[in-house]
Amino acid sequence: MIAAEYRLAMPLKRKHVLVAIAIAAIIFVAGIVYTASHTPGAENGSINVVATFYPLAYFASEIGGDYASVASLIPYNTEVHSWQPSTNDMLAASNADILIYNGAGIDRWFEDSLLTAINTTGKLVVETAAGLPLIAGSEGDPYHDHDYGSEHENETAESQEVQDHGLYDPHTWISPALARQQAQKIYEAFVQLDPSHSAYYEQRWALLSEKLEDLDQAYALNLSAKTKSTIFVTHGAFGYLADRYDFEQVSVIGISADEQPSASAFAGIVDLMVERDTYVIFLDPVYEDKYANTLKAELESRTSHTVTILELYLMLGPVNGMDYFDQMEANLLNLKLGLGVP
Ligand SMILES: [Zn+2]
Repeated sequence: MIAAEYRLAMPLKRKHVLVAIAIAAIIFVAGIVYTASHTPGAENGSINVVATFYPLAYFASEIGGDYASVASLIPYNTEVHSWQPSTNDMLAASNADILIYNGAGIDRWFEDSLLTAINTTGKLVVETAAGLPLIAGSEGDPYHDHDYGSEHENETAESQEVQDHGLYDPHTWISPALARQQAQKIYEAFVQLDPSHSAYYEQRWALLSEKLEDLDQAYALNLSAKTKSTIFVTHGAFGYLADRYDFEQVSVIGISADEQPSASAFAGIVDLMVERDTYVIFLDPVYEDKYANTLKAELESRTSHTVTILELYLMLGPVNGMDYFDQMEANLLNLKLGLGVP
């Protein structure tokens, strides 16, 4: 009996082992098949990247090159502050390998309504502004209903609570130095997800990084010769440039771009422009020009100066064939005019 049981037990044990090996082999083969069909850069596949808006999508394309398929959720040259995702946007995001957002409050919907609605297993989620030295904005501040004259502009905001209430200036990508740090996080995501092409990504990142560093140096060098201290803008999106290159930004409608300026705010800005002897108003073409035109009319009726309205791009999409770098270079030329660089 004992021997018989023993003889029976042996084949059963062997059977179990064989079944286990077979299952392992199936999982292994399935894993290879799955991996092959999802290997970024494999013949029929590429890394599927979904970014919240243009500059991040642009950096991802520059780094990912032939191995990346990049989409932007917010359509190009659309107002970003009040945008909300649709069901199709959720679907696009749920098919992504890498999800990229800015953070600092500009694409809050990404964390609040998108990340909570999709399965992020196996995806890399990149918050590009994480860890950046953010400066405070004035949005929602009951004591400063617009930016002009706000002494808070260049202060570093201290608390998480401040960030939660959207009081950081979110326009980090407009400063080449911060944009470079944001792009670096995108580069690191590509290498992490697809290490077999790390040399390719490294080479492209090195080029992008150098271009952003050169741009930062060009801004610093050119703007160091400024003879004026203040730029006057409709939408206060240039705080990080002001912070880095040592000038002041005075804005009509502040950080969030959907506020209504008061008559007294206008009068205050006109006074300040006269005081600072500055007759240039900056405007991003994405936004309406009614505030710039009102400011120009009031200033011209009070002084004998001709007031010039110049474009200052937010890099929210290609404009007239100009990409991120072209717009940043055009901005520098106009900033030189506005800040009185001889
Ligand atoms: Zn903005």
